[in-house]
Amino acid sequence: MKIRYFDNAATTKVKKEVFNKMFPYFMQEYGNPSSLYKMGRTAKAAVEEARRNVAKLINCDKNEIYFTSGGTESDNTALKGIMYLEKHKGKHIITSKIEHPAILNTCKTLEENGYKVTYLNVNKDGIIDIEDLNNSITKDTVLISIMFANNEIGSIQPIQAIGEIANKKGIIFHTDAVQACGNLNIDVKKLKIDMLSLSGHKIGAPKGIGALYVNKNIKFKNLIDGGHQEKDKRAGTENVPGMIGLGEACRIAKDHLETHIYQMTELRDYYISKIKSNLSDIKINGSMEHRLPGNSNISFKNINGNELLAKLDEKGICASAGSACSSGSNLPSHVLTAIGLPSEYADGTLRVTFGDDNTKEDVDYLVTNLIEIVENAKK
Ligand code: PLP
Repeated sequence: MKIRYFDNAATTKVKKEVFNKMFPYFMQEYGNPSSLYKMGRTAKAAVEEARRNVAKLINCDKNEIYFTSGGTESDNTALKGIMYLEKHKGKHIITSKIEHPAILNTCKTLEENGYKVTYLNVNKDGIIDIEDLNNSITKDTVLISIMFANNEIGSIQPIQAIGEIANKKGIIFHTDAVQACGNLNIDVKKLKIDMLSLSGHKIGAPKGIGALYVNKNIKFKNLIDGGHQEKDKRAGTENVPGMIGLGEACRIAKDHLETHIYQMTELRDYYISKIKSNLSDIKINGSMEHRLPGNSNISFKNINGNELLAKLDEKGICASAGSACSSGSNLPSHVLTAIGLPSEYADGTLRVTFGDDNTKEDVDYLVTNLIEIVENAKK
C-alpha cells in the first residue's frame, strides 16, 4: 500500500540532496574536525560551510551559530544557559502556555531551582497579547522565550513586536523556531531576536542535529562540559555528517522558500476548504491569518481522535492527533486547553501537516477517506 505522509510537523523525510551531501563523511572523509591532517581539515571546512548555510537561512553571522543535538537541546541551552549565568541580574522568565515541552519542562526545572516563570495566556487563535507581555515584565525579568510558531495549531506569534519590547527593556529574547525555520522567512536582525532554536529533522535533515543562534553580544553558560568544540559552548566531538546535513537542508530551504510557502499554503487551503464543505460540526483550530503554511488542525465533534488515526493508518495515511509528544494520551493537549476548545471537539482533533512530497492527489485521497471515516463514526 502506498503511504501518504501528512505528519511533517512531527518529522520529515531526509532530502536526497541532504543524504548525498552527508554520505562521504561517514566512510571517506571521516576525520575528526579537530585533527590537523588533511582529512580532519576537510571535515572542519565542511562543518564551517554548513554553519554558514544555517546562518544564511536566518540572516546572522556564522559565528553566532552553535550546533546542538536538536531543538530540545537548543531550548535547554538557551533558557538554562542565560538564567544560570545572569542569576545576579534577576530570576524571572516570561514564556507562553502553549510552548513545546522542551521549553515548558525546562521552565519547570528552573522553577524547582528558585526561578520564577510567567506563562502568558493565548487567545482562541493561539496568539499572545502584547499588552499582557508588557504588563508581565518586572525589574527581575531577564529572558522572554516565546515560540515563533506553534507545533500543534500552527499559530505564528507577533515576533517583531516581542523583539522590540525586549530590546527596548534590555531583556533577552529567545524564540523556539523549530517549526518556523524553513517554513517562514526569518531575519533575526530585523526581528530583534537574540537567541533562536532550530532543528534538522523538521526540514529534511536527520534527527539528532540542530542549532542555537546566539547574538554575538550575549553571553551564556554551556550545558555540557568537555572539550573546546563549538567555541567552548557545546563540548563533544562534532556530529560531522549531521551538521553537513543540516547545512544542506538550510541551503535548500533558503533557495526554495517562496515556492515552498506557496505550495504548502495551496495544499493546506485546498484540504481545509474540502473538509469545510463536506463535514459539519468541525472547528478549525489556530489563526488562518497568522499560520504556518503547511499546518492544519481540525477538530471533529464527538469523534475519538485515536480511533480516527487508527482508521487512517489502515488506509496508509500518517497524521497526528495533536503534537507527537502528547499523542498516546487521551487528555486534550495543553495547547487545545489553552485556546479553550470544548472537550467534545478536543478529543477528535486531527493535525495534518504538509510537506514537499505531498501532491493534490494525496490530499484528495486523504479527504475521501477522512470524510468516510468521520461519517461512519457518527452513525
Ligand atoms: N520545539 C518545537 C516547537 C517542536 O515542535 C519540537 C519537536 O517537535 C521541538 C522543540 C524539539 O525538537 P527536537 O525534536 O529536535 O528535539
